[in-house]
Order: sequence, then structure tokens, then C-alpha cells
Amino acid sequence: MSQRILIIEDELKIARFLELELSHEGYEADQANDGREGLNKALANKYDLVVLDIMLPLMNGIEVLRRIRQSSEIPVIMLTAKDEVMDKVVGLDMGANDYITKPFAIEELLARIRNALRIKTQKQDGTKILAAGELKLDLDKYLVTYQNQAIELTKREFDLLRYMVENKNIVMTRERLLETVWGFDYAGDTNIVDVYIRYLRSKIDDRYNMKLISTIRGVGYVIKDED
Ligand code: CA
Repeated sequence: MSQRILIIEDELKIARFLELELSHEGYEADQANDGREGLNKALANKYDLVVLDIMLPLMNGIEVLRRIRQSSEIPVIMLTAKDEVMDKVVGLDMGANDYITKPFAIEELLARIRNALRIKTQKQDGTKILAAGELKLDLDKYLVTYQNQAIELTKREFDLLRYMVENKNIVMTRERLLETVWGFDYAGDTNIVDVYIRYLRSKIDDRYNMKLISTIRGVGYVIKDED
């Protein structure tokens, strides 16, 4: 059975484009064009994921998200404009699973959707182990191993590694890593991301003579894993 995605977006051109692209990818896509309709559909139907625009008529996306979260854990990916930084903060705080900034490449949105659905399935299966090749993260025990050898990480290093492995094969900008792993108290100071990437590399890449974390020049970092 194909997975069902609700698109809540008032710009009809974008909504139709997304519906078409998602159908093309094999999802069953549905759309709502204002916040109230979106909320009603999200609550009344069984969707696997919601793509939620922030600026919406009748009820804004943040309020829609808040109300969805009162009764549902469904993955929500927010669509935000570049200048809606505060909304992004509030949205993530309120339980949005991910966000993407307009204008976006459809391939990036599709990757984020696949990712959110994969994490959802892992949660349903009770999977508490994340993997990238022979690197394994035990989320219950906060334990990281490579070829069954334990690697000692601080909580922050673990959180950073976890987020990157959860989003493996997606290039993460420094800003995104900072926002999701550190939170907005650190907003702006992306140097700290580079510092922690260095810590991880010295504890994993250097020690095991491997290339776990790749630098994408001028963009950020990615953990690649062909599985
Ligand atoms: Ca809008």
C-alpha cells in the first residue's frame, strides 16, 4: 500500500506541483489550501506524513502544527521562507520533524520525506540501532561502536553523530546542524560545528583510518552510506 502524504500549501502552483511529483514517486498525495482545511484533513485522515507551509490563510502553519501535535506524532516537514527564521525555531520546538526553505529543489524535499518516513518506520519497529556501514549507534544505551569496538563520545558528539546518521546521504549545512543539535541559543556561531566535526573525525575517522564524514566545500558535511 502506498504511503499517504498531505500537502498543506496555499500557493496553488506549488501545491499542484508537489502533488504531481509525489504521485510520480509512488505516494498517494492529497492537498489542502488553507490552514483550517489542512488541520481538518490531517486529523480526520490517516496520513503517513504532512508537508506544511507556514504562511497560510485562516490558520497559520505553526498553529496547525501545534494542534496536530496535541493528538498525533505524524512526521511533519515545514516549508519556510528564508526570512521566517523565528517560525522555524518555534516549529522545531513544537515538534516539526524537519524543515525545508523555499525555494527548494524537489529532490531535496523528496530526500527529506524518504528520511522522515524511514525514521518513522524504525520507531514503529522499535529499532533503537542506527547504522552507517559498520558504525552503529545504540540509542538506548548511548553507545557507539565501529566493527564492534566501543567509541567514547560526549553527549553533544553523540547527538551530532546521531543526527548525521539519521540523515545520512543528505548534505547538512553548518546552520542546520547548529540549529538542530545545539538549538538556537547558539544561533550564528557555526564555528562550533566545525570544532565538533573535528572531534568526531579524530575519534572515528582518524582512529579507524576511514572516511566517515565528508566535507562538501562551501556547504557543510555529509555521512555517505550506500545501503
Ligand atoms: Ca504560503
